[in-house]
Amino acid sequence: MKNENSRIQEIFSKSIFRGEVRFMEPMSDHTSLRIGGPAEVFTVPQDLISLKNMRLTLKREQIPFFTLGGGTNILVRDGGMEGAVISFNSFRKIEVLSEDDEYVQLSVETGTPLQRLVNFSKENGYSGLEGLVGIPGTVGGAIVGNAGAFGYEMKDVLVLVEIMNAEGEIGKCKAEKIDFGYRRSSISSAEVILSAEIRLKKDKKKNVSTKVEDFLQKKWKQQPISESSAGCVFKNPPELYAGMLIDEVGCKGMRIGDVEVSTIHANFFINKGRATASDFLHLINEVAHRVKEKFGVVLEPEIKIIGKDVN
Ligand SMILES: Cc1cc2nc3c(=O)[nH]c(=O)nc-3n(C[C@H](O)[C@H](O)[C@H](O)COP(=O)(O)OP(=O)(O)OC[C@H]3O[C@@H](n4cnc5c(N)ncnc54)[C@H](O)[C@@H]3O)c2cc1C
Repeated sequence: MKNENSRIQEIFSKSIFRGEVRFMEPMSDHTSLRIGGPAEVFTVPQDLISLKNMRLTLKREQIPFFTLGGGTNILVRDGGMEGAVISFNSFRKIEVLSEDDEYVQLSVETGTPLQRLVNFSKENGYSGLEGLVGIPGTVGGAIVGNAGAFGYEMKDVLVLVEIMNAEGEIGKCKAEKIDFGYRRSSISSAEVILSAEIRLKKDKKKNVSTKVEDFLQKKWKQQPISESSAGCVFKNPPELYAGMLIDEVGCKGMRIGDVEVSTIHANFFINKGRATASDFLHLINEVAHRVKEKFGVVLEPEIKIIGKDVN
């Protein structure tokens, strides 16, 4: 019997998809943490037909898959990922659908970098996304995790999403049908979001750009933006700040292997060089343990931990 790896290579070597296909691709090259073992197959479908063919093949062959945005909110374990990773890198279009004196409605493909959308809004005087400035990753990842900061959240501007199901059929889902919460949504991992319609309020360009610049300044002061991280490791417990609790148990600057609790913001863990997922998980456990011991508070990860351990 052929092993799973060569079966997958054989299936994906047939040219039924337009776009890139790479085997045993290190996920450390596709995550902001620069951590993660190889994906059995890493794909960048070039168009909708290719994406549809890919979904049908994955379903028929019962191959698991993971939809990747910018890889800025995930920790991939050192053993890598079974099955396929689908990147939305080729889906990056922003289009104005309609506008009146007060509002504009945009269609945005979900591989669009969130900061491209924030800049587009700033340049055109469209208000609603100002607080999301400086959040890395894609529009798709921002929708699934309901990304937010400074009182702004992705859900507040979302009108609907276009989703492709496992049969390759495309349907629209209104935002009010999705259950959004703090850094979460009810969108399941089987649902692939193709694009989103968002509604923004027209304003003076200067007003939008002043807010964007102010929020960006604050973000630079509060977060270690230039270092390799995945953003906040833990969700804030109700009415508390995870970063403050971690600081108060003395974990700022704590290090396991090459992973360090940031000295700027204790809820950011930094890859200082050659960190492994195993180091990262040890640090998560140690910090969570200390916070539980001292405050009785259970910290819940905000980052998504995926993939398998090294055998
Ligand atoms: C320096 C730094 C600062 C950050 N600051 C913030 C902040 O202020 N606020 C905040 O909320 N977050 C912040 N983050 C975390 C992160 O950037 C956001 O959560 C971001 O929205 C994740 O987007 P992504 O495209 O990288 O998603 P990924 O990490 O690639 O994926 C996250 C999830 O979304 C799913 N997904 C992605 N695209 C699709 C799609 N098209 N269809 C279906 N599922 C999809 C993935 O399967 C996965 O489950 C920060 C991260 C860093 C590194």
